[in-house]
Amino acid sequence: MDPAGIDLTDSPAEAEFRAEARAWLRANVPHGLPSGDTREGFAAHLDWERQLFAERWAVVSWPREYGGREASLWEWLIFEEEYYAAGGPQRVTQNGIFLLAPTLFEFGTQTQRDTLLPRMAAAEDLWCQGWSEPGAGSDLAGITSRATRCEGGWRLSGQKTWTTRGAFCTHLFGLFRTDPDAVRHRGLTYFLVPLNADGVQVRGFGRLDGDEGFADVFLDDVFVADDAVLGEVNQGWRVAMATTGSERGLTLRSPGRFLHTAQRLVDLARSSPSYTHRQRDAVVRGWLGAQAYQWFTLAQVTDIVEGRPPGARSSLNKLYWSGLDIELQRAALDLLGPAAALDDPWSRGFLFALAGPIYAGTNEIQRNIVAERLLGLPRVSVCVSR
Ligand SMILES: Cc1cc2nc3c(=O)[nH]c(=O)nc-3n(C[C@H](O)[C@H](O)[C@H](O)COP(=O)(O)OP(=O)(O)OC[C@H]3O[C@@H](n4cnc5c(N)ncnc54)[C@H](O)[C@@H]3O)c2cc1C
Repeated sequence: MDPAGIDLTDSPAEAEFRAEARAWLRANVPHGLPSGDTREGFAAHLDWERQLFAERWAVVSWPREYGGREASLWEWLIFEEEYYAAGGPQRVTQNGIFLLAPTLFEFGTQTQRDTLLPRMAAAEDLWCQGWSEPGAGSDLAGITSRATRCEGGWRLSGQKTWTTRGAFCTHLFGLFRTDPDAVRHRGLTYFLVPLNADGVQVRGFGRLDGDEGFADVFLDDVFVADDAVLGEVNQGWRVAMATTGSERGLTLRSPGRFLHTAQRLVDLARSSPSYTHRQRDAVVRGWLGAQAYQWFTLAQVTDIVEGRPPGARSSLNKLYWSGLDIELQRAALDLLGPAAALDDPWSRGFLFALAGPIYAGTNEIQRNIVAERLLGLPRVSVCVSR
């Protein structure tokens, strides 16, 4: 029990769960896998994902019939902490298991859940996110990809871009305009699309670090059956907001990831022959930042467990973890000096951290949400003077 009266010790059941997860992860986590954002690396990561599934560690919080362990949210956080502490690699299945799955649990039909979730958990179906389009990023409601009713289903046409790992995935979840006459976000529907359907073309393209991490997905009159709709027709905005809540909030970036990076930073500082006061401050700030995110998350989980969903507060998580990641990586590069250019994990980590303020909704948009919905500040309209 700490002085504020908060008890952070594991319950006996949680301690047992932690010990089992720790022992298994330490014995099995693969080290030195190539980047999962290349074709060869992705295949190597899938072997790991399938091993996780075989031992019921892929989706610990899910029901047993879908391959999970029915772990509580607290146990899920423990698993994440142990996963990263053991040096576990990025989860290339994350867009499915962390973004789509919570939305399927909330809005999917029983048949959709029974069919899709076990294959997702087993890394047989690999999902990518089809939100962004060439003319619609922050302004998601501005999408122009459309779905038109036809006999037995829908015909989809349009282009999705910035689709993470789209070139390696088998399925896409995305928003399509189903009512061209409705105002912006009112006429959208959420679709689940197999990427091997006739009329789909996927073209991978490189990122700043050279990996083929992105894809453009072109859809030309692609037929999908009625059961490809998730939630109600024309209610896709509501369903998509549930997905973005998971993306910004609890599930995509748990504190375990940053606690581990902070520990690596501390280890790096300890092994550095010398450092300045400024560099030492940066290490301490990064470490404190990771602890603070852990505490914030524990408070948030308490709220969720007690029936107070985070809603717009998930924007706070996103602002915080994306800034923290840059701070931690930058502190490491500063300690390494010119040697950073030769240090693959830290330099790659830094480049990826730079994307944090952009993906999952840019930080400017998150600040708008915090200003308007949490602080009740008036909307600011942008004036363009000529
Ligand atoms: C690593 C990475 C992975 C990604 N993965 C995916 C994916 O898997 N699927 C997918 O669909 N998309 C993905 N994206 C795309 C991402 O969602 C978009 O880049 C993001 O939403 C911003 O859209 P945009 O790039 O079109 O920029 P724009 O929306 O054009 O924004 C440009 C700039 O203007 C600012 N801006 C825009 N509107 C406002 C406003 N109202 N108020 C204040 N500032 C504003 C933005 O903050 C930004 O700085 C990914 C992006 C990255 C970097």
